[in-house]
Amino acid sequence: MNYEAVIGLEIHAQLLTKTKIFCGCSTEFGSEPNSQTCPVCIGMPGVLPVLNKRVVEFAIKTGLAMNCKIAPYSRFARKNYFYPDLPKGYQISQYELPICEHGYVDIVVDGVNRRVGITRIHMEEDAGKNIHERDSSLVDLNRAGVPLLEIVTEPDIRTPKEAAVFMKKLRAILRYLGVCDGNMEQGSLRCDANVSIRPVGVTEFGTKTEIKNINSFRFVEKALEYEIKRQIKVLSEGGTIVQETRLWDAERGVTFSMRSKEEAHDYRYFPEPDLVPLEVSREWIEEIKKALPELPDQKFQKYITEYALPEYDAQILTEERAIAEWFEEAVALGGKAKEVSNWMMTELLRLLNENNMDITECKITPEHLVKLIGLIDKGTISRNIAKKVFAEIFESGKDPEAVVKEKGLVQITDTSEIEKMVEDILSQHPKEVERYRNGEQKLLGFFVGQVMKASKGKANPKAVNELLRKKLSS
Ligand code: ADP
Ligand code: ZN
Ligand code: MG
Repeated sequence: MNYEAVIGLEIHAQLLTKTKIFCGCSTEFGSEPNSQTCPVCIGMPGVLPVLNKRVVEFAIKTGLAMNCKIAPYSRFARKNYFYPDLPKGYQISQYELPICEHGYVDIVVDGVNRRVGITRIHMEEDAGKNIHERDSSLVDLNRAGVPLLEIVTEPDIRTPKEAAVFMKKLRAILRYLGVCDGNMEQGSLRCDANVSIRPVGVTEFGTKTEIKNINSFRFVEKALEYEIKRQIKVLSEGGTIVQETRLWDAERGVTFSMRSKEEAHDYRYFPEPDLVPLEVSREWIEEIKKALPELPDQKFQKYITEYALPEYDAQILTEERAIAEWFEEAVALGGKAKEVSNWMMTELLRLLNENNMDITECKITPEHLVKLIGLIDKGTISRNIAKKVFAEIFESGKDPEAVVKEKGLVQITDTSEIEKMVEDILSQHPKEVERYRNGEQKLLGFFVGQVMKASKGKANPKAVNELLRKKLSS
């Protein structure tokens, strides 16, 4: 039997606010354990939460960017469970009235457009962190009360690859908005994947399992691939899928059962009595909408229509806002779009990758690149030399012209000088000359290579070609 998978994701995004959601404590990462706490976030009796307005703004921003309806009236709720990292014994979340609902995010997978529905986006507080040592367990409450958005998708995803592409798109949107840094390894973006299978052609959903603990894009795909295979095996052997929560073990590449439906928590949700319902005005929503940055999809369209870039280039350049802005700045300074794109997609992204650097950390600027392209256009340096200059500016941040002068890289265009080099090479390779003259025309490339090498890459390639042809045919 042929099965298809049905997948829905629940994503937690840690918000980049300076302070926590219900108190003024700092959210900074990596401080001394329990140094960023107060009576509110450690759950002392008698304290009252005060909602951080910036959290609501970030939730609305995210909702708008994901085409959601923003609720003018929403409410916080208590989600009750007992765990050492949850000092109050409940988490303040949203339940039956979330702030955003009914949105969607479009993705492209293998050239096919897919739309993934966003069921809801709500605000909640994070829990603390338990650290288990050999014979003791410690609790750090610095993270308790850090604001989170929970984003829930419709079961619209059909393959592990779609799930990974969706996660990347979601991360790109969150980073464009500046609401979350999107770092899955550090846990500021976390994903739980729900998956079931059904025979192709059947419309009802099968029983789902939920996989927790997935902390990279690669693992989203791997964990789902594993889980789908496992479910198919169970059904093919006449078994049934039990609804349960499973954990992904990245080392062994398997999912394993954490708790069954029977052991699932009953959270006993009820409206949070310490907070008034949240009302947001139409005007505020409009204001936030107007201030939204251009998003990846809009930029992608613009790069194709206005800059005439191939889809491939447009896709890569719009994945990160900082990269897109670097590109646009170079074009605004007079760089030809496709030329700038080529340099960015080959040299710049390669160097950033090799050095494990962010574009905001590197020394080369859009202005440097435009000047460098100008030097090639004027014939001052060859394209190959320009690559070396590019790498040098990437390291030093020096002006292209200064690098070219300093290193004596100016292209040799003086034909008599090139002619001399051509003659030398031909006299060093009499056998190849004879073979060329006997019809092995493809040896021209060999001669060009030899002359370029002798000139340390500085000879003008066009002149080298012309002179070689002339000498070889005389
Ligand atoms: P629960 O009640 O277990 O929390 P929900 O209906 O709230 O389940 O859905 C939680 C997530 O699981 C959502 O992302 C949803 O799209 C997804 N989901 C729901 N049903 C299925 C199913 N049969 N197969 C795969 N995913 C599902
Ligand atoms: Zn606090
Ligand atoms: Mg649910």
